[in-house]
Amino acid sequence: MRLPIAKRGGFELVTHGLRAEEASQEASRCLQCATVCDKCVQVCPNRANVPYEIAPLDVQVPIVSLSDGAVVGHERVAISQPRQILHVDDWCNECGNCTTFCVHEGKPYAEKPRLFWDRTAFDASGHSALFVDGAVLHAKTSDGTSFRVVLSEDGYAYEDADLTARLTPTFAVAEVRPRRRGDGVRSLRAAVETAALFHALRTSAPFILRDREEGAS
Ligand code: SF4
Ligand code: SF4
Repeated sequence: MRLPIAKRGGFELVTHGLRAEEASQEASRCLQCATVCDKCVQVCPNRANVPYEIAPLDVQVPIVSLSDGAVVGHERVAISQPRQILHVDDWCNECGNCTTFCVHEGKPYAEKPRLFWDRTAFDASGHSALFVDGAVLHAKTSDGTSFRVVLSEDGYAYEDADLTARLTPTFAVAEVRPRRRGDGVRSLRAAVETAALFHALRTSAPFILRDREEGAS
């Protein structure tokens, strides 16, 4: 609401705020991007960002001693937002569009889970990478640690250089065994998060895994 120019000779406000019903109408135009955004999906010229649905999760995962596999504590793993983004790195040319349009200060192409279709590219990637081969999901964490999650009839098997673990179909850690004696402790966070991600991709975005699964059979 702006005062006409001809009337701007005194001390009346030139710009007024919205009336209550106008403010309410404007607010109703909100697209609720905290629930569904997908901007990085829309703006990618190569379709390298793919949305998928994941079931919310809120669990306590064990922290184990690498010397004997004993549980020494727990930490919380929570996934609250059902709609998530997977990045397919083989299709990305790092144009930066998704970073420009992301409504947060993030780099979707670098920070979202990065799936590779090409095994050589996955091997060459230093960190934060996923490669699916049939029932096996190979993964690297942000610090370059490698592990794998294997789908089985009674849940998931987790393996890294130091330990193995068995997870139930609902991602509870049922058993942990050290593969070699080491120092320090290890959280099973990556095992639980990756098993949940694997399940979500298989159920809500199977097309993104299909080629690898067919190739493995
Ligand atoms: S940086 Fe990669 S993922 Fe992002 S818009 Fe460009 S091609 Fe797509
Ligand atoms: S990564 Fe950014 S652009 Fe993509 S869905 Fe999330 S908030 Fe939106």
